[in-house]
Amino acid sequence: MLQIKYNSNFKDAYYNEIANSKAFKFNGLTFEEYYNKYFKSKLHYSLKDILCGNFEKLTEIKNFHGIKYKKDNSVKGLFNYDKVNSQKVKVLISKLQPKISKFVEENIEVHTCYFCNIDFINKFKNSKSETKNAFTLDHFLDKATYPFLALSLYNLVPSCSTCNSKVKRTNELKGLSPTSEKFNFDEKVKFKTFMNNKNLHVEKSEDFELLLKEDFSNDYDNYIKVLELDNRYKYHKDKVIEMINKRRDYPDSRIKELSKITKKTEEEVKQDLFGIYLKEDLHKQPLSKLIKDISEELDLI
Ligand SMILES: [Zn+2]
Repeated sequence: MLQIKYNSNFKDAYYNEIANSKAFKFNGLTFEEYYNKYFKSKLHYSLKDILCGNFEKLTEIKNFHGIKYKKDNSVKGLFNYDKVNSQKVKVLISKLQPKISKFVEENIEVHTCYFCNIDFINKFKNSKSETKNAFTLDHFLDKATYPFLALSLYNLVPSCSTCNSKVKRTNELKGLSPTSEKFNFDEKVKFKTFMNNKNLHVEKSEDFELLLKEDFSNDYDNYIKVLELDNRYKYHKDKVIEMINKRRDYPDSRIKELSKITKKTEEEVKQDLFGIYLKEDLHKQPLSKLIKDISEELDLI
């Protein structure tokens, strides 16, 4: 639902972290050297493209190989996100998931789930001063089907466990990922209440609809459906009722008055009253996209 913002040196730092990893079974080689020696001819693309290619590049690699390596245990053994040695898969390097998780924790802003914006997924320090996090990393393109993309940076979406393990699971989302520069869900899709009277006589959640609607296309229909967003947001209709009630109590004339009294701008007064977040800060608070879209509907912004 919200696009992930990356720092410019993020890619190189990630690449160095993984490509320079060593493992007992690499016989003194680094991950990169081992890949170039034994896997490059098979997987065709450079390790840099696979690990740090942008989402469009990953889609190209996915389409190039298709599901050819779904059952390839050697590819699974090298691009080892969370596997332990088993009869089936002999891992070449121990699971990289803890390392990747730590890297994401230190380099991406993780406040709320990038898929749903419903739950906090922040990091915190426990009583032993160890950093812990409340996020899971979802593989946008399923790692069981495309094992060569299991460690790809732009295939990883910091998300809540409801999105990752309860609704999306291994379902493939069609279209763009929040990791893509072209991901524009926020601009194209809006929460709408379809309130049919301008007097804001809405008292209970049965009085109105709350649905995500896309303008002029349906690129994100599958995303909304797979992540059950409309159904999950029904629970948050109370937030909308609270905003509608407040809007009734604070028409524009009242906001103007408050602005004079408090010497704040009208925007600041609205911000204080309704908790509206700016576009670039949306990921910082749960439900901030909902609040912004409803604010638009209520002519607050
Ligand atoms: Zn979520």
